Amino acid sequence: MVTILDGKKCSEKRLELLREEIEDSGLYPRLATVIVGNDPASQMYVRMKHRACEQVGIGSVGIELPSGATTESILDAVRRLNADSDINGILVQLPLPKGVDTERIIDAISPAKDVDGYHPENMGLLFSGKPRFSSCTPTGIMTLLAEYKIPVAGKRAVIAGRSIDVGRPMAALLLNADATVTICHSRTKDIAEELKRADILISAVGKAHFITPGMVKPGAVVIDVGINQLDGKLVGDVDFAAVSTVASAITPVPGGVGPMTIATLMENTYRAAKEQACGSAG
Ligand code: NAP
Repeated sequence: MVTILDGKKCSEKRLELLREEIEDSGLYPRLATVIVGNDPASQMYVRMKHRACEQVGIGSVGIELPSGATTESILDAVRRLNADSDINGILVQLPLPKGVDTERIIDAISPAKDVDGYHPENMGLLFSGKPRFSSCTPTGIMTLLAEYKIPVAGKRAVIAGRSIDVGRPMAALLLNADATVTICHSRTKDIAEELKRADILISAVGKAHFITPGMVKPGAVVIDVGINQLDGKLVGDVDFAAVSTVASAITPVPGGVGPMTIATLMENTYRAAKEQACGSAG
């Protein structure tokens, strides 16, 4: 029988624990989000993040810039937030519109407020095995694996996708947890063969039904990061019904990885607030 890894339930539990911790701390952490343009999916993600802030007692500030905003004007907004001592965490919702220099924007975020963990300094710390803020989606996945007591050390983990927000930091986190890690991408030769060797298979490709049962080792743990529309429905990268007959555990979409991403963002924001409070006290 396959175990459904219930990210929604796990995230609710984490958020409630965090709410209590924040209440007891006497701190009032604040997260600023920056959204550029009016992409409905990005707007929905930002709304969900603000709702989670409210749920746990984190203040949130939303900066909305028009779709024609220039790199310079977004940099101005980021610099203002860096300088604002009332703001502990900064999240720039990606993707940014075409023509905006995303790398410059990410590089401009103060590493101490980079609760998404995309800044090269935080990425470097993660890859050197001393993470400060590590990206929310892969960190949420590690939390979910731990919640279900799924062992990682010594396991063969194979990731489909090498993006800066999922595939690469996922590999670092798994490696830091002593897994043997392979990253696949669009130039990988015979990806099915690579994936089939996985004890833990993570798909972050962004293609509906990309992962079929023939790519999955019987008994593997399958983590589906993908968010895709198929026939008007939200689906992941994994053919959930078919792969469930082969896997030992699997995340659903929706209700798997997504809620864990948001819970991790809240945890990172609280952590930033604590570290900044210690810094200003010391
Ligand atoms: P991305 O930046 O577009 O990266 C996609 C990756 O998939 C790339 O590394 C690409 O390879 C690889 N790829 C594409 N086609 C492939 C193929 N046919 N075979 C093998 N590899 C292939 O996407 P992302 O930001 O990582 O997001 C991936 C998916 O996860 C999307 O559906 C996104 O919406 C979702 N997502 C969900 C959450 C969540 O919280 N649930 C968070 C973030 C993202 P190349 O590098 O060679 O191009």
